[in-house]
Amino acid sequence: MKIILLGMPGSGKGTQSEILKQKFSIANISTGAILRQASREQGKQAELIRSFIDKGQLVPDKIIIQMLVNRIHQKDCSKGYILDGFPRNLAQGESLDNTGIKVDFVIYLEISEQAIISRMAGRRIHPASGRSYHLQHNPPQKDGLDDISGEPLIQRDDDTPEVIKKRVASFNKETRPLLEFYKTKKVKFVEVDASKELNDVSCSILGQIN
Ligand code: AMP
Repeated sequence: MKIILLGMPGSGKGTQSEILKQKFSIANISTGAILRQASREQGKQAELIRSFIDKGQLVPDKIIIQMLVNRIHQKDCSKGYILDGFPRNLAQGESLDNTGIKVDFVIYLEISEQAIISRMAGRRIHPASGRSYHLQHNPPQKDGLDDISGEPLIQRDDDTPEVIKKRVASFNKETRPLLEFYKTKKVKFVEVDASKELNDVSCSILGQIN
C-alpha cells in the first residue's frame, strides 16, 4: 500500500498519516521531519536546508529526492508507506513516477487558507518522531508531552504567521499543480474536507480507500 498525502501546511497530513500508519502497519514518511532532522546536524548542507525551511520555501529537489529514495529503500517500507509532504512540486512528482513506483492512492486534504492560519497557532510536534498534536483538536494525554515517548513537545520555528503565509503561497504555486497531475494518472484520487473534526476526516479517508 503506497499513499501520497497532499494538502496545505496545517491541513492535517501529519495526523492523518499517523492514523494510516497504525491502521495499515506501513511506514509514515514525512519529508518535513526528515529535513528538520537533517537541518539540526552540523555542516553546509544542514545550514542550506535550514535556510529554506526558515523562509518557508521548498528545499532544492536534488537534496530531498535523494533523501526520499534512501528512505523508501529502508526495511520498514517493504509493506508500503505514506508520503507526507512529498511530492511537493511537478518535478518531484515526475521523478517519483520515473522510479516506476506504483502509488495506490493520492489523498488530498482540502481546507481554506483562513482555517489554516488559526489551526497552526495550536500545533505542537514531537521532533524525534514527527508526531503532531493540536492544543484544542488533538491534545496530548499529558500537557506538553508526547503520548508514546513522554518527551517534550515543541512549536515549530516555521509555524509563525509570517512563515505560514509563505508556505501557503508555496503550496498554491508549486504543489497545487500536482492535483491535476494525479487526476490524469492511473491512481485513485481521493479528496476529503479537511476542515472537519479529526475523526470525521479519518473516517472519510478510510471509507474511500478500504
Ligand atoms: P512540512 O513539515 O511538510 O510542512 O515541511 C516543512 C518544510 O520542509 C517545508 O516548508 C519545506 O521547506 C521543507 N520540505 C518538506 N518537504 C519538502 C519537499 N518534498 N520538497 C522540498 N522541501 C520540503
